[in-house]
Amino acid sequence: MIMEKIPPLFDFDTMPEPETFSNGLTGQDIISVSQFNLEKLRYIFERAREMRELVERRGSADLLKGKIEAALFYEPSTRTSASFIAAMERLGGSVIPITQGVQFSSVSKGETLADTIRTLEQYADVIVLRHPKIGAAQVAADYADVPVINAGDGAGEHPTQALLDLFTIREELGHVDGLRVAMVGDLRYGRTVHSLTRLLRHFDISLRFVSPEILRLPLTVMNEVIDAKIDVRETHDVADVIENVDVLYVTRVQKERFTDLAQYEEVKNQYEITPELMARAKKKMVVMHPLPRVGEIHYSVDDDPRAAYFRQVRNGMYIRMALLAAVLGKA
Ligand code: ASP
Repeated sequence: MIMEKIPPLFDFDTMPEPETFSNGLTGQDIISVSQFNLEKLRYIFERAREMRELVERRGSADLLKGKIEAALFYEPSTRTSASFIAAMERLGGSVIPITQGVQFSSVSKGETLADTIRTLEQYADVIVLRHPKIGAAQVAADYADVPVINAGDGAGEHPTQALLDLFTIREELGHVDGLRVAMVGDLRYGRTVHSLTRLLRHFDISLRFVSPEILRLPLTVMNEVIDAKIDVRETHDVADVIENVDVLYVTRVQKERFTDLAQYEEVKNQYEITPELMARAKKKMVVMHPLPRVGEIHYSVDDDPRAAYFRQVRNGMYIRMALLAAVLGKA
């Protein structure tokens, strides 16, 4: 009997290559904002605008159908974890969430980060990691073959937050060059401040840092700003800057980073943005906050059209959709 040749289900030799492009991000880990030059920023922002249009018109797509993200959060998170899930699902992918439930995973049995990462990459195409230690995302990336995205490493960096912050500034004010940006609050431990400051070095801007003495910007970051020849000043008082800023970037004092809680108590309520303060600010400016807020912005500021923090939250989803698509090689 002559056997009929059964065609293979998939012919890997003739299958077209998945759609890839030269954005320099495909297959890459996202650990620090220092990986982003102007070209990459422009690329991600253009894609984020397309993602916004996609969500507004159709809600979702299947660009990442069949792709799986492992979301591993060793620290609390609302926006970052939810938006990484929403981003993946709106693009047709799915998520293994080891987020608020990390205490129910083998991490609580003493498993090392390296082993957890090497396990998750057996299932997932990309790993999103938040961890309390500076440098943890890099360690994970060293172990993983799939891309690792840093969703906050202790008081180190929070690159995806900085991308969405910069995107928000650009969308709200139409440009970045020429702006005066003030960062207020915990500049020492605030990782979003570190990442955003580093990204802003690509632009012709001036920076004002407003903090209590013990929460000043770390010297390493300050030196990078000085090396970039950016006009920079520090003060303890928001009143010194409020009249002349285009962006007021307010942050929470990072209680979880203090070893001495008495010190936290001393500085925790130092700043509050109120309608009275806003009355002295420019007509065209924005107030931003990475959130959560714990008293730094009075609720009555929320109705002010310059309060951009919830629009900022939404932008986070578009930026993470763009980033996931780029890292996973889908235009
Ligand atoms: N959500 C931001 C972060 O994870 C800001 C904060 O927690 O204060 O860094």
